[in-house]
Amino acid sequence: MRVLKFGGSSLANYECLSKVANLVKSQLKSEMLLVLSAPGGMTDSLVELAELAQKSQPFEVQWNALLERSNSLKQQVEQAGFEILSWPDFSLLEKKLSGVALLGLCPDAVKAFVISFGERISVALMQALLCEFKPTSLDATKCISSQGGYLDAVASVSASKAGFKQQMSQAPSKVYIMPGFTASNEQGELTTLGRNGSDYSAAIAAASVEAQVCQIWTDVDGVYSADPRFIKKAVKIDNLSYKEAMELSYFGAKVLHPKTILPCAKANVPCEIKNTHNPDAPGSLISDVAGEDKTVKALSSLENLAMLTVSGPGMKGKVGMASRVFDALAKDDVSIVLITQSSCEFSISFCVHEEDLQLALSGLEQALELESKAALIEPIQVRKDLAIVTLVGDNMKAHKGLAAKFFGSLSQAQVNIVAIAQDSTESAISAVIDGDLCNDAVKVCHENFFTHIPSIDVFLLGCGLVGAELVKQLEKQQAWLEKRNIKLNLYGVANSRKLLLDKEGVSFTNWQGQLADSEQSFNIATLEKFVKQNHLINPVIVDCSSSSILADQYLSYFEAGFHVVAANKKANTSSQAYYHELTASSLKNNRKFLYETNVGAGLPVLDNLQLLFGAGDELISFSGILSGSLSYMFGLLEDGLSLSEATLKAKESGFTEPDPRDDLSGTDVARKLLIVARESGLELELSDIEVESVVPDGFCEECSVEEFMAELPKLDTAFNDKVKAAASDGKVLRYVGTIKNGHCKVGIEAVMADHALNDIRDGENALAILSQYYQPKPFVIRGYGAGAEVTAAGVFADILKTLSR
Ligand code: ADP
Ligand code: ASP
Ligand code: MG
Repeated sequence: MRVLKFGGSSLANYECLSKVANLVKSQLKSEMLLVLSAPGGMTDSLVELAELAQKSQPFEVQWNALLERSNSLKQQVEQAGFEILSWPDFSLLEKKLSGVALLGLCPDAVKAFVISFGERISVALMQALLCEFKPTSLDATKCISSQGGYLDAVASVSASKAGFKQQMSQAPSKVYIMPGFTASNEQGELTTLGRNGSDYSAAIAAASVEAQVCQIWTDVDGVYSADPRFIKKAVKIDNLSYKEAMELSYFGAKVLHPKTILPCAKANVPCEIKNTHNPDAPGSLISDVAGEDKTVKALSSLENLAMLTVSGPGMKGKVGMASRVFDALAKDDVSIVLITQSSCEFSISFCVHEEDLQLALSGLEQALELESKAALIEPIQVRKDLAIVTLVGDNMKAHKGLAAKFFGSLSQAQVNIVAIAQDSTESAISAVIDGDLCNDAVKVCHENFFTHIPSIDVFLLGCGLVGAELVKQLEKQQAWLEKRNIKLNLYGVANSRKLLLDKEGVSFTNWQGQLADSEQSFNIATLEKFVKQNHLINPVIVDCSSSSILADQYLSYFEAGFHVVAANKKANTSSQAYYHELTASSLKNNRKFLYETNVGAGLPVLDNLQLLFGAGDELISFSGILSGSLSYMFGLLEDGLSLSEATLKAKESGFTEPDPRDDLSGTDVARKLLIVARESGLELELSDIEVESVVPDGFCEECSVEEFMAELPKLDTAFNDKVKAAASDGKVLRYVGTIKNGHCKVGIEAVMADHALNDIRDGENALAILSQYYQPKPFVIRGYGAGAEVTAAGVFADILKTLSR
């Protein structure tokens, strides 16, 4: 004998019903017992009808919809040439509902009758579709014996065996059909087995008749590593142990009712999960062997929970307190999902389903009234809107570090852990967390334990030369990223006026046009909302602007959960206090702050400085050529070009800012030097840096760029003299930033041929760091340090670093 249970999703319409009938026909080798749910969604409608009636509210619309749906199914079966022999008594259902409406009261016994009505419809329809086998319809109330209320009853295999035997022997057949979800109590009254309970009916049936298998036919190929409806990359699990399946279903995997496994396990009946819509797929097998040596098999989540905490001096060391607490809950039939106790026994916390909260609270308050009055117990604390995320796998016990990885993943998802529990066999670890972050938590955990394809969700601010180049590089690198199993999405682009957001990812080719057409503008709240709605777990703001307004907002970006990658130097060159706040905030919020391109564009400068000084080295002195534009121009001066010629050529070759005064003023170099100084441990402000401009202070300050370029030749002679004077000493002029004895200066220096910076020109940067570890010869970093391409590449590298932990 085989037991096959078909869920509501397999019986939702006529097409599904005939699919099931054909499937049964094709599989009919030996006897089978079919356990049927109500057509998908019908139990929900029946629950709604009962509730409306109980509130004495009109329910005609819902009633008519139920009639129409049922009759339409019936007609379709009949039109296909099948005769329906027994159709459930709708007039009885209507009478019961009217009675409920009249009384304004719905006793559980009546409710059980109403909500189990859908199963009868499925049985009547399936019996007709399978008429060629003369199936025997089993009365579930005569087969399954249960205890403990009308709505969430607990069935007994031993008490059900006789019922099945007797019912089946009355009309032996090759095919038996029984409504799921339905049972009876000791008085023979109809009970139901809890929502989703047809799985449980099937398990009780399989154990009672000692079936060779209990198959649960549903709408997915088997048990997955996470709910496949939500996690697209969830993987199917071929084999699970009973224990694993039990933990998973108990902690929320809807594919199985939590009570299903125990009867199968006790009777050693293997349980298979199969897809009605893909019957040839292998499915998942649940048996007494775990089958696979994966450490973590799956993860599940359970939402809408509340946590109650009972604490107070009266709890400590007092024998029987815990049992008093739990007895009080048991008395009211409140089921406890998870328990944790503080190690000092000062408090016990436990989770219940939110719908049971009031009952649990009033029961507890009543039971602990005396202790409360004597101040031995503090008022019971309640936290609502919680969820539990659980990792399941029998092999977890043999592995170290899984809990750390689990909690690390939760922290990565910015999830605060409210409580932790682990079962004694170490097959499951659960964390209680805020309910609204449940999806994010599952997503990150699944990514870290299963797919291993981390994602980076980029929002680009500022799309000038570097920003636009970055978009090009992101597009170009997609194949490379795929090879490395990284999913990098560009979800947003903004300039100072507009913001373009696209949950499918911004088009790499058409983003400029779409940005121009966008109606919204950037603010962090909009991005935060977008991230929440789309459950993005690694959001990164990439600031390629030079805006002080944006730089001043970074703290709020960290607070909102974003990493920040900044090509913009303004934040790090704002006040020293702000510089410290940025580091502190990124640490506190567990978000990265990366700004490698602030100095030396794509060159690995700051990384090296951080490594060096993080390892205890100390700066003695520093000198560096930190501006690609000035490196290029001073190279030209060395070749004999005048200052104005060199400036013009640098401008035309794209080496300078649109206004070359931005480079010539030395402010940009001063900013970079300030960052180097701060990274080396010095505390100072931008105003502390002595800046010598290439052009004299006040020269052509108010005029336009064109006027400035026209005036510049006036400085040529004087400048040429400086170049010549240096050359006569065997030196060349370089624009250098130096740090010595805590003093920072940027300006023109004449350097000797053997100086580390002597041959740095043509746009190259160089940084010579003399330190306790590196002396008397300095540690030198050298390479091209300007241009949109290398800068964007540096930004790209920083973006990837958001993944490292
Ligand atoms: P049925 O109507 O057949 O009883 P259910 O809707 O009760 O079907 O259960 C199947 C659903 O369970 C799937 O569609 C899936 O979304 C959900 N589910 C949740 N967790 C898992 C999981 N770990 N593996 C497979 N399905 C899961
Ligand atoms: N029809 C019932 C429900 O929807 C039982 C089941 O489908 O398993 O809860
Ligand atoms: Mg189900």
